[in-house]
Amino acid sequence: MTAGDAGRRGRRTGKAANDKATSDDVPAVRAVRSARKAVKAGKSGTAKSSPTRASFDKKVIALVYDFDGTLSPRPMQEYAFLPQIGVDAAQFWKETNRVAREQEADPLITYMHLLYKKAKDAGVRIDRDDLVAQGRAVELFAGVIEWFDEIGSYVALRSESQGVTVRHYMISSGLTEIIEGTPIYDRFHNVFASEYWFDAYDLPYPKRVITDTGKTQYLFRINKGVEDLGETINQHMPEMERPIPFSNMIYFGDGETDVPSMAVMRKNGGHAIAVHAPGESKDKCVGLFKAGRIDFFAAADYRRGSDLFKRTCLLIDRMLADIRVKEELWAVERELK
Ligand SMILES: [Mg+2]
Repeated sequence: MTAGDAGRRGRRTGKAANDKATSDDVPAVRAVRSARKAVKAGKSGTAKSSPTRASFDKKVIALVYDFDGTLSPRPMQEYAFLPQIGVDAAQFWKETNRVAREQEADPLITYMHLLYKKAKDAGVRIDRDDLVAQGRAVELFAGVIEWFDEIGSYVALRSESQGVTVRHYMISSGLTEIIEGTPIYDRFHNVFASEYWFDAYDLPYPKRVITDTGKTQYLFRINKGVEDLGETINQHMPEMERPIPFSNMIYFGDGETDVPSMAVMRKNGGHAIAVHAPGESKDKCVGLFKAGRIDFFAAADYRRGSDLFKRTCLLIDRMLADIRVKEELWAVERELK
């Protein structure tokens, strides 16, 4: 392991923060990390239900996003990683699919492997901090930066039930490190994405791979309040005890890779919205809509007043009404006890 590796590993655990590429955003990253540690330690305010609880506590709304094609027009590796190693994006994905098919390998593991194999072949060393720095080159759809505050103020305005909060989550097959470098990283209550081990082998090795179907595990983690990845998600938890019911959740995605997540959402009483790049074909979205996989679809324009904003707010209005009804029922049932 080189000295650079040691420094980077230190930064990851918050012990050293002197790397040139990311020193300016270290406090922000640390703040987010410590907030996430608090989540893991169960200090996130997601009180578990119990028969003796003093107030109705299912008041968290969770908006869950895919990243590539949903918040950003292109796969995140195309903005900096592939150009940096001189590889054509279309060729890269074509090769990934071909190798995955030929080897009967998982396409996500294949892309993570090929990315670094090609970097090595090109003689380019890209480590964890380089990936974080690459996040700054990632383009976001119009209005994404402002979306989080706009949705927050809409909910604050419309919520007549005290204490309704909105959380944003990301579940992506892309790379945690690149997402960390984007300007919206600290807007998420938690980010679940694929990640590398940088010191396990000669080439970085996949530590966590989030496949299309694997994404659904994280929906259940949000639903059950089990966000510490060290904890198993498979233990039984009665619906009543789950801190964020699916009916309080909306999943945003852009296509086929989101089908398992959309299906889980809709089958469990949750909501899903599909987006397409503005001005481009909406065929995929129409297909999802006709198949009953989504509530709505819209162009990926996140600005206030857009169709996407309006339709998201309609679903939020329904959730807020639903929360009020459930809260009132809870109070009535409590009186009758
Ligand atoms: Mg996508």
